[in-house]
Amino acid sequence: MIPYKHEPFTDFSIEKNRTDYLEGLKTVEAYLGQDYPLIIGGERITTEDKIVSFNPSNKEELIGNVSKSSKELAEKAMQAADEAFKTWKKVKPEVRADVLMRAAAIVRRRKHEFSALLTKEAGKPWNEADADTAEAIDFMEYYARQMLRLKDGMPVESRPGEDNRYDYIPLGVGVVISPWNFAFAIMAGTTVAAMVAGNTVLLKPASTTPVVAYKFIEVLEEAGMPPGVVNYIPGPGSEVGDYLVDHANTRFISFTGSKEVGLRIAERSAKVNEGQVWMKRLIAEMGGKNTMVVDKEADLELAAQSIVKSAFGFSGQKCSAGSRAVIVEDVYDTVLERVIELTKELTIGDPTDQSNYMGPVIDGNSYNKIMSYIEIGKEEGRLVAGGDGDDSKGFFVNPTVFADLDPQARIMQEEIFGPVVGLMKAKDFDHAIEIANNTEYGLTGGVITNNRENLEKAREDFHVGNLYFNRGCTGAIVGYQSFGGFNMSGTDSKAGGPDYIGLHMQAKTTSEMY
Ligand code: GLU
Repeated sequence: MIPYKHEPFTDFSIEKNRTDYLEGLKTVEAYLGQDYPLIIGGERITTEDKIVSFNPSNKEELIGNVSKSSKELAEKAMQAADEAFKTWKKVKPEVRADVLMRAAAIVRRRKHEFSALLTKEAGKPWNEADADTAEAIDFMEYYARQMLRLKDGMPVESRPGEDNRYDYIPLGVGVVISPWNFAFAIMAGTTVAAMVAGNTVLLKPASTTPVVAYKFIEVLEEAGMPPGVVNYIPGPGSEVGDYLVDHANTRFISFTGSKEVGLRIAERSAKVNEGQVWMKRLIAEMGGKNTMVVDKEADLELAAQSIVKSAFGFSGQKCSAGSRAVIVEDVYDTVLERVIELTKELTIGDPTDQSNYMGPVIDGNSYNKIMSYIEIGKEEGRLVAGGDGDDSKGFFVNPTVFADLDPQARIMQEEIFGPVVGLMKAKDFDHAIEIANNTEYGLTGGVITNNRENLEKAREDFHVGNLYFNRGCTGAIVGYQSFGGFNMSGTDSKAGGPDYIGLHMQAKTTSEMY
């Protein structure tokens, strides 16, 4: 097997690549508005009640009508997953890895179709959609290889006349609850990590982006995944999510989403229900309130570019987004001015048009939440760019910058998950790091400085799971910058990292006397 290397991003300045992407868009347009069933034990089940997936740039455009799971159907899926686990756990790890490798190859051949679907269903601009698809491919390629590394366990000592072994075995049925912001990458990554480790999966994708998840299950089937190994059951969190999180047969939960929902799952999953013979494991990736720190000895153009890119890439809807910047006072005005200029240059509109840097936010709820934070920001700080939106056709919020905030301002403390960034002054570098650490989260952070001593200080004291020097704080690459945070950002699990697969397994010691 060739060594792992991440999937390159598409260069859209090359005409052939642009044409290919537009071809992908045509393919997607030809299947918009179709009906999609649930997939339980390989069986297609259509329900009357539907989840309606629409294009966030154009509320009138239907992406698909997706069958909606109920408690009863979730129970049926649990039984199918339980049954499939009996055989899937015995399938050789090499074979499970092969399913992922083949699935990655299929997605690679249909790369631009998947990206175009993300543009339509999640409102991702071309380059963001392309990165999402590339990351989905990376997760498959990387976890397949990681599984092969773990398949013979880990070395342990043996004494004369004794043979000790340390092997990894799967856990059981896992519930995967995936987000809409990396509707392909995180949905696929969390699903395949669980399945390649020998578990079976109940996948409940985000209700705003269920079609891309359906298309992915079709790919897994084409790649040779047996029925029941991954079951596709979109449905409301309050009904299907709670039911499965509480279920006595659920062995683990892999969740990506907000802190509120993550904590609710942590609490529910800690309760032992009738018939349950294990403590459930929880893998959670939650929110962030991530800071770009700018020192006085720094490339100030790089600082402004990094702040803007980290804040407004995919309209700030990444848990890694840099939603605050703390700038040492000596250079504050210069950086602020340049951030304002760069923000005003950003183009916003339908992301199928390649020239738009930013598309919409995901839906009406999100739009309203972001707009209400903008109102709060107007009270708390000085509005210097953006501050408005338009939800007449789709859900567009202009990139918004607030200046001169207090470190305790809500804009500086709460996750907004939209294109809003707050800037503030620090007395010096130490003060900046102190402010950067003052939230309940600890996901990503960036430091722009040319001062080696300060870099080292940040390396030690800036308490985040993903810390970046002299660059923005988004865009972790599978296998290169393993991703996951501290404190209220989750369970410190590192997606795309060398120990991620291990979180989906348990170690068994066997000791034989000769
Ligand atoms: N891994 C992504 C990044 O580094 C963020 C994932 C997320 O938003 O959940 O930007």
